Amino acid sequence: LIFRLDAQLYDLLTNEATVLTASRHLAHALRQEYAQQAQLQGLRVWPTPKILPWPTYLRNACQKLRNQQARPPRLLSELQAVALWQRIIASSDTGQGLLNAAQAARNAQRSWQRLHQYLIPLPAVAAYPSEEAQAFTQWAQRFITETQQHQWLDSARFSDYLHRHHFQPDTPLALVGFDQITADMQRLLRDWQQRGATVLQPQGFSRAAQARTVAVGNSDSELRLAASWARQQLESGRTRIAVVVPKLAAQAAQVQRRFTEVFAPAQRCIDEPATPTAFHVVATPTLSSYPLVHHALLLLELLQGRADMLLVGQLLRSPYLEGYEAEAAARALADVVARKERREQWDCNELQRFAETQHCEQLAACMLATGNYLREHKNTALPSQWTARFTQLLKLSGWSRGRALNSSEQQTLNKFQQTVAELSALDELLGKVSLSTAVSTLRAACNAASFAPEGLDQAVTVIDIDSVAGMQFDALWVMGLHAGDWPPAPEPDPFVPLELQLEYALPDASAEHCLKLAQQQLRRLVNCADEVILSWPQHDDDAELRASPLLATWPVVESTMLAQASARSFSQQLFATRPTLESLMDDRAPPQAPGAAKGGSRILELQSRCAFRAQAELRLHASAMSTVSVAVEATERGDLVHRVLTEVWQQLKDSEGLRAFVLTDTQSAVGLKPDLQAIVQSIAQRIAQQVIPGITLYRRRLASLEAQLCVEWIMALLQVEAQRLPFRVQAAEQGEPYELSGMKIKIKLDRVDELADGGKLLIDYKTGDSNHSRDWLDKTPGRPRSPQLPLYALAHPQQLAGICFAIMAPGVAEFRGLADTDSIAPGIVDYAQQKPLAKLAGIETWDELLRHWTVVLNDLAQQYLSGAAQVNPLPGECKFCHLHGLCRVHELAQDTMDGEVESDDA
Ligand code: SF4
Repeated sequence: LIFRLDAQLYDLLTNEATVLTASRHLAHALRQEYAQQAQLQGLRVWPTPKILPWPTYLRNACQKLRNQQARPPRLLSELQAVALWQRIIASSDTGQGLLNAAQAARNAQRSWQRLHQYLIPLPAVAAYPSEEAQAFTQWAQRFITETQQHQWLDSARFSDYLHRHHFQPDTPLALVGFDQITADMQRLLRDWQQRGATVLQPQGFSRAAQARTVAVGNSDSELRLAASWARQQLESGRTRIAVVVPKLAAQAAQVQRRFTEVFAPAQRCIDEPATPTAFHVVATPTLSSYPLVHHALLLLELLQGRADMLLVGQLLRSPYLEGYEAEAAARALADVVARKERREQWDCNELQRFAETQHCEQLAACMLATGNYLREHKNTALPSQWTARFTQLLKLSGWSRGRALNSSEQQTLNKFQQTVAELSALDELLGKVSLSTAVSTLRAACNAASFAPEGLDQAVTVIDIDSVAGMQFDALWVMGLHAGDWPPAPEPDPFVPLELQLEYALPDASAEHCLKLAQQQLRRLVNCADEVILSWPQHDDDAELRASPLLATWPVVESTMLAQASARSFSQQLFATRPTLESLMDDRAPPQAPGAAKGGSRILELQSRCAFRAQAELRLHASAMSTVSVAVEATERGDLVHRVLTEVWQQLKDSEGLRAFVLTDTQSAVGLKPDLQAIVQSIAQRIAQQVIPGITLYRRRLASLEAQLCVEWIMALLQVEAQRLPFRVQAAEQGEPYELSGMKIKIKLDRVDELADGGKLLIDYKTGDSNHSRDWLDKTPGRPRSPQLPLYALAHPQQLAGICFAIMAPGVAEFRGLADTDSIAPGIVDYAQQKPLAKLAGIETWDELLRHWTVVLNDLAQQYLSGAAQVNPLPGECKFCHLHGLCRVHELAQDTMDGEVESDDA
């Protein structure tokens, strides 16, 4: 129990007063407290106290009022109001061009509520010529017309309805936990008081608490410290403890995880059954954010035949689909296969056929039954008919039968079923609708519905800053009070003109109001507990944060002074109870015969970067899973640029061919004729359709955009090439075998140029700015980060003049290379002329460098053949490697273990 009901409030309630609260949570807490006090007074039964959140009271009052009227209006539910806004916006001229009409409907509905809360007349908005104000006015007028025609009343106008019809409360009222009273609320309260009603605002407890402030490393360590502190408070005998987390709904999962680590570490174990913990996270995320509901909505998207691979991957891994426990492994493998196939669009028939080939029989059977039912029931229908159809479709698809649901999931299931059933109330509003409209209406309803499974009232409450208003505690911790977030930045309404928002004093509209509210909330928080800690994170990734200036009045305490709770994290417990281990040096795979090793230059690159990775990836095939993305993959981009450049140079042939397209040539820049751009453009558009194939409009547009980007980059590079001394393209994309220490390696040069003096320049195209010629030199002795071009240099020793990258990236088009002269092209430098720090120690000339590479690369080849597999990454390598779990690199250094393991957990 978290609110200390004072005697005044308890007396008011026993005397039939109605207590109105600012939040649902506060109403719940007060009801619990009232029950406890009644029991303490020896009562066994008592009348239910009248404790209601303000919006519920208004709805009840409207209901009471309409019972007294001859032609009362019908009260719209929130779902009905959202559906009406959505229909109005989707059918309006301005709504047609919107990317996300559903989101626009939610925003418009919120603006409509604000107009009424702050008594802003709609004509005042209409007087502003901005597009947003005009669009909103048009939608609002349509909303008014429709609701008037049908005698509907939405919740935004409840207060106005009660005011106009002189509603009078029949009990005294007490307001609790309101940080701000809106203008429509003030008007109603004034009406009631003028007509003789009693309206009280009890002050509640006010402590002379001494707050302290503390700086903590980052928001994650802040969360851990707050959880440890809360546990310590509990161990010291306190029973009402709260941790206030700003924007709690958005990070509820992370908060739950960190508190579980501290309060019930064993529950991190997969097989451990969930048991009640001493803390309760009071968050009300939207219904659609719960995985169970999210997967139901994904299934309904699949039925429309517009599912992409991201969606299908989630369904294949879903624990909520029938047969999950028996087919989890087969479905995981199916996901791997599907990622490689990269099919663009799926429907349930497609998924059924695919599941059959992947030995997922139960999934296939569910999809078959769903597809058969859908074929007969996909015509337009009333929302009430869609309610029945969705219920049947989800049943046939096996949703919610993958594994036994726990109590929270069961409550989520009930709430979702209730939301599906509420669609029936939309028949009159929407008429017959298609499958896709029905699904998007259901999705909007799930997005609009806030929901939290009921938790037990626990000693420790984790709560957000708005819901905590009016509650009292023994000890309180408020997190996240850094200058960037506290006071919060203004968030003006998108549809109501800013001048009006300032004139009518909307709280989010100006920095001044935000500051005032933040000061008021902070004052209230430090007065609601005996001990208060106010904390702020010092870093957000690389960005440094500062304490909120509002904390300046309170003394600072070091985070180390806030003693840690006795609980150890799960990873610490596991480590502490580890068995005594035998030491075994196992850093060598079986050797290979030179002829058995197959591959390209990547063998040497991986062996140089990390020996373990080379053996694991190339011999054990421990490759990374393909990623699924709606964007163009880096390999597709590289392939496109390479192929276009090859064709372009087949046409141009040499520097003379390129210079034929030079328009202007000054000392600093070369302009190229539009004809050349047209040639590159037509090649790029054609090849892009092959490299990035697609049947959807989205994918075809993506290919076209990528072709444009490719043209831009290539034209920029050609401008640089036009400034070079004469050359001829001798070979492009030419594969050839090469032997190193007896190992056969396939190499493929992007391009070989023959220079005027007969010298050869080897060019490697790179579509990224992170490639540098220094990566060809040893990072540590005998280990260059990128030995690919040095290898090509060894394969082409005759008249080799130099090697270079041709870099194409946003804002960058240049050569980066090393050579035996500095006259080949800008960016290709004479190795011998490099500054000492840019050279390898003891290697002064280009010829010496080539000899050094011969030794280094042969050595790397021999290491690979001998099976050398030490976990010895070059600095920074592990950041881009997927094998942490296999090589266990984090366990090499004992002192890094806890941090690394815990960050993996995250
Ligand atoms: S994670 Fe690091 S140490 Fe492990 S294989 Fe990859 S590069 Fe090597």
